Amino acid sequence: MKNNLSKFKGFIIDLDGVIYLDKKLIPFSKQFIDYLNYKKKKYVFLTNDSSLSPNEYSKILLKLGIECEKEQVITPITNFLDMIEKKELDNNRIMAFCSRKLKNYIRRSKVKIIEDVLKFKDSQSILVSGNINFNYKDLMYASLCVQNGAKLLTTSIDDTYPSELGNLPATGALVAAITKTFPTSVFNLGKPSKRIFNLARNKLNLKKSEILTIGDNLITDIAGSNSVGIESALVLTGKTSKSILKESKIKPTYTMNNLKI
Ligand SMILES: [Mg+2]
Repeated sequence: MKNNLSKFKGFIIDLDGVIYLDKKLIPFSKQFIDYLNYKKKKYVFLTNDSSLSPNEYSKILLKLGIECEKEQVITPITNFLDMIEKKELDNNRIMAFCSRKLKNYIRRSKVKIIEDVLKFKDSQSILVSGNINFNYKDLMYASLCVQNGAKLLTTSIDDTYPSELGNLPATGALVAAITKTFPTSVFNLGKPSKRIFNLARNKLNLKKSEILTIGDNLITDIAGSNSVGIESALVLTGKTSKSILKESKIKPTYTMNNLKI
């Protein structure tokens, strides 16, 4: 892999299944990032998990010995805030259906969330992100918002996530419940959306041909990267096994057993 790496100046790197699993380092991932720093390569971490803020991710990574500034972490919420900054969304007309923690983070980022659900008719867009407190009232007002023309944005389209109990409903399941009440298009803020890969590329400030995406998920990391014309490397330390890769129509540019240099 070392020879292939030299042609790239920047890297878009997934976290879960690539750098860590259950927030424990995966063998060789730290050495890989150290190598990138040694070679003065640029890198950003791109995760679909919006339960933590970029600042919290950078702290976790630093604790694990991985060099990372908060500006180097991109989540679906970074994408959301960028849309507001670029005036693709009206900052005054957003309603959020997400965890309290995420809401607070968004508020701190100077987003003026419509707090009173009874003002659902004022919403131009809604943000949906999976959380344990999502209830019938949330579903009802989210539905009323989209019925009144609000754009539906989601941090993820995953239907379930694994747990010790079994697969549990994820953000995509909540979104499905909303669209079941009123069919509407869904804007996915996370991977594999082109917008989030383009955002990562802009952060790196490099040409597409100079960047490599590294991930463990064929659908989000590899297909997403392929769709914007950025070469991709699949690492087999997470979600995807050799046999899954063999069966899939989605193919990475490179495949690596791990991040060993
Ligand atoms: Mg992953």
